Amino acid sequence: MIDLFSDTHTLPSDGMRRAMADAELGDEQLGEDPTTRRLEETIVKLLGTEAAMYMPTGSMCNKVAVSALTKPGDALVCDHLAHVYRFEGGGSAVLSGIVFEPLATEKGIFTPQQLDAVMRPGNVYEPRTSLVSIEQTHNFGGGVVWSLEEYEAVCATAHDHGASIFTDGARLLNAVAATGVAADRWAAPVDAVWIDFSKGVGAPGGAVIAGSAEFIETAMRFKYLYGGAMRQSGVLAAAALYGLDHNVPRMADDHTNAASLAAGLREIGLEVAEPQSNMVFCDPPPGVELAGFVNAMESEGVRIGAVAGRIRMVTHVDVSTDDIATAIKAARRVVGGS
Ligand SMILES: *Cc1c(COP(=O)(O)O)cnc(C)c1O
Repeated sequence: MIDLFSDTHTLPSDGMRRAMADAELGDEQLGEDPTTRRLEETIVKLLGTEAAMYMPTGSMCNKVAVSALTKPGDALVCDHLAHVYRFEGGGSAVLSGIVFEPLATEKGIFTPQQLDAVMRPGNVYEPRTSLVSIEQTHNFGGGVVWSLEEYEAVCATAHDHGASIFTDGARLLNAVAATGVAADRWAAPVDAVWIDFSKGVGAPGGAVIAGSAEFIETAMRFKYLYGGAMRQSGVLAAAALYGLDHNVPRMADDHTNAASLAAGLREIGLEVAEPQSNMVFCDPPPGVELAGFVNAMESEGVRIGAVAGRIRMVTHVDVSTDDIATAIKAARRVVGGS
């Protein structure tokens, strides 16, 4: 089976498994897991922040960031397709008591003008807009990449209004690969940023959140509060370190594969937006049901996703250039019936 369902479906390679087996371990909750600490130090260097903290999941990073940067009754601005808003069971509303102020966008990218229009200082009647969230790359926007200019402009607007801003960087390293803009440039204008290891980095789990020492101190309290503190997490941290060394340097290949997939699907008559990173989104061919198309592809040995009413195909370290050619042939058979 060629698995284009998600970049969360990568399996640890033999080398990654060996790194996990060999990891030096201790008690993460006490700050005594040496491999986890090494990972945190690696991320501090990569992002140029004062501090970083290992986390069990990216979803928990969003929860912790929102809790650390808001008070109950505050408003959080994000786009209407943002993971933190649409896909986490309303978790931040439950845990932080915030209200979401989602901005209507085409692909998850919003402008300083849009932001400016909804930022409120708060009074006895109105929520105070205390936090803004950016998703880079934007998942349900289509793997879309914010340009540094767009990104820095909304950061400045948030700060002009006295609000904080954080980046859901589940796939920040894909944005780095796509733009050539180094990771620390994306971290510099925000108050917090996190990276997922279970996506393109290819590890079985884990994430890291980074920011000022003061932010991480507050975030650590919420990590404990939400049950996210771990013990011998170095087994997973070792996988992340291995992925950073071995899988991230080849991440641009995933983007090339996504571009080839899009081109191949266009050739057989599908309307496909030009991918900006490792995701290909398209509608099923005219007259074909989404679920029917997904099932037919699966019968052809290619697993694909259906998200937000569209077909989503995601490239990653376990998908080769040959797999892309095979997937295009499968789609040709499904579309043409031959
Ligand atoms: C996957 C994802 C998350 C959640 O990360 P998990 O590690 O799966 O909990 C959050 N935001 C975005 C944009 C994602 O793609």
